[in-house]
Amino acid sequence: MTLAATDNPAGTAAGATPLIELRDVHVTYKARGTSLFRPQKVRALDGVSLAVYRGRTLGIVGESGSGKTTTSRILVGLEEPTSGEVLFQDEVVRRFTLPVRRRLGRVVSVVFQDPATALNGRMLVREALQDPLDVHGLGTPEQRRARVRDLIGMVGLPASALDALPGQLSGGQRQRVAIARALALEPQVIVADEPTSALDVSVRAQILNLLTDLRDELGLGLVFISHDIQTVRYLSDDMIVMNRGRIVEEGPAEEIFASPRDPYTRTLLGAAPTLLARSATEFSPMNTELGAP
Ligand code: ADP
Ligand code: MG
Repeated sequence: MTLAATDNPAGTAAGATPLIELRDVHVTYKARGTSLFRPQKVRALDGVSLAVYRGRTLGIVGESGSGKTTTSRILVGLEEPTSGEVLFQDEVVRRFTLPVRRRLGRVVSVVFQDPATALNGRMLVREALQDPLDVHGLGTPEQRRARVRDLIGMVGLPASALDALPGQLSGGQRQRVAIARALALEPQVIVADEPTSALDVSVRAQILNLLTDLRDELGLGLVFISHDIQTVRYLSDDMIVMNRGRIVEEGPAEEIFASPRDPYTRTLLGAAPTLLARSATEFSPMNTELGAP
């Protein structure tokens, strides 16, 4: 089973067209540190198919090395599949030319784990937010300045933050700026790859709530990636469990939590037995932060 549009998994926007879809995507890397002449191959992705819908959150969970970041890089066009297809804007992409990748980069935007590395430390927040608009030559100078003021407000920061350098902000504020930058080009999909893993526990819930609010306000599709299955549960409508580059389980998040079929999913759940005992409605990331073992 896949989350492809044709399958209409229960609870998914039945009949809706995905904003972006991957079909049977494989990615093979040359293993790091192996012989130049007889390189070992790493199968980072081994036949991944998924679909992202407007107004819904697709959670992707798996341990480190399972292929989550490779999936996010494929979705934003930073990486090219070794084989398989990417579908967006009524187009099946098999050749990843520069124009295709640029278009993909406007439709899908990514927020990575560490805002410190995502933002240039010498660029004012104002410049970081205006940069994508300049690169794509969007609007007049006055329209760009207005867009920058809108963006900072959308992520809940005061206009005064525009004159700060990233180093003058807290980790949570920096991640808000990274989210604002990801929104600059009005993407249809945001991919958040471990967006709170580098943050203090005290601000994690705020960032997760911000992402969900933005999804609803802007009608985005959200892909939320985490190694933490409980956070994925809290946020996701649909869920994918990855292990060694493959999807081992997928479906509506609540169904997977109610009756996980794959042994690997059960293992991930078993890592947090006290939380499993709680009902989904009781659960919030705040509870994990305060009460989890
Ligand atoms: P995750 O985000 O789930 O931790 P990744 O997608 O980063 O997983 O990595 C999946 C696999 O691909 C891992 O075995 C990783 O070591 C390997 N990998 C990722 N990027 C590269 C690369 N550029 N070169 C070689 N191997 C890589
Ligand atoms: Mg990763």
